Amino acid sequence: MKKSFFQFTFLELQELLSSKGLNSSGANLLYNWYYKKKNAYSKEIQDIAKSTLSFINENLSFSLPKVAMVQEANDRTVKFLFELEDGNKVESVLIPFHKKYSICLSSQVGCAMKCSFCFTGKQGLKRNLKAYEIIGQFLAAWHWLKENRPGEERILNIVFMGQGEPLHNFDEVKKACDIFTSQYGTSIGHQKITISTSGYIPGLKRWKDEIPGVNLALSLHSAFDEIRNELIPINQRYPLEEVLEYIDNIPLRYKQFVTYEYLLIKDLNDGERDARALGNLLQNRRALINLIPFNEFPGTQYKRPKEDNILNFKEILDTYSIPTLVRTTKGDDVLAACGQLNTK
Ligand code: SAH
Ligand code: SF4
Repeated sequence: MKKSFFQFTFLELQELLSSKGLNSSGANLLYNWYYKKKNAYSKEIQDIAKSTLSFINENLSFSLPKVAMVQEANDRTVKFLFELEDGNKVESVLIPFHKKYSICLSSQVGCAMKCSFCFTGKQGLKRNLKAYEIIGQFLAAWHWLKENRPGEERILNIVFMGQGEPLHNFDEVKKACDIFTSQYGTSIGHQKITISTSGYIPGLKRWKDEIPGVNLALSLHSAFDEIRNELIPINQRYPLEEVLEYIDNIPLRYKQFVTYEYLLIKDLNDGERDARALGNLLQNRRALINLIPFNEFPGTQYKRPKEDNILNFKEILDTYSIPTLVRTTKGDDVLAACGQLNTK
């Protein structure tokens, strides 16, 4: 099988061309064509040496994930179901804000972490995605926008909050970030990329040296280990205190925060005691709290708290002076909200 063009970082592409005796400047032209201009595949590309083009066309594949299904929510959120070459499916979500978009990408088919509140977790892990399949979600969504919402094909932020635990597929996620941030291509700043993790320490250990500058979001969900153990089983192996120690050691830019995502589940972690414990835990950290009211899905025993409880919870946190947002649920009429992605 041909290797995907989208699997090569800029440097690797230069090396590939050089190793075949071709001019490595072809890498600039190719990155410009496919990433900066985001052209569709074409056999002829201006200014590139014929020998380079014929090598590329014969040896590399340019195919993107196939759009198996698209659902557009009333609020213009778009959920894609993508089919990969081996028939596996993953989902990505375009989240609109003022005719620009953030894209929520998947990093794995399914997930091994088995969080009790997560629809994806119920699937188990099928396999890791390769970098080209992560990049492919972005490019395929971009091409869909260009065709269906012309003039709106602007995807400015990337969040790894789709299916999968990104740090459990570190190498490929890192490579995808490398390609996204390349100045020769899409040139997306590190500060525009956020990786959300359940607290997978082997990945947190590598963060500072290998993906510095990328924003970190921790799925916290409780300041108490007993509750966190129930919600996020890997907390038993990587307890919160250790997770936070690693996070505290990641250098932050001026005005950069770590986002702590806190799922609010009725009668489980939404009480005053929970809010105070959360406030105490984060008040001396460079933290931003994202409260996520639980999104119900078929078969779950958990419930979303009432609106009043959500507001109470936020008010208590405000007394700790920690910036706190309540995440409004987008796209829930098409099950595109967090934790509702399941492709079985
Ligand atoms: N695996 C990573 C990233 C994907 S999950 C992680 O766990 O952080 C992205 C976010 O959606 C996480 O904060 C997760 O806790 C949240 N989430 C999962 N299931 C949810 C649900 N049913 N309702 C609301 N948020 C959910
Ligand atoms: Fe995996 Fe994240 Fe879902 Fe947990 S919440 S099962 S880590 S995708």
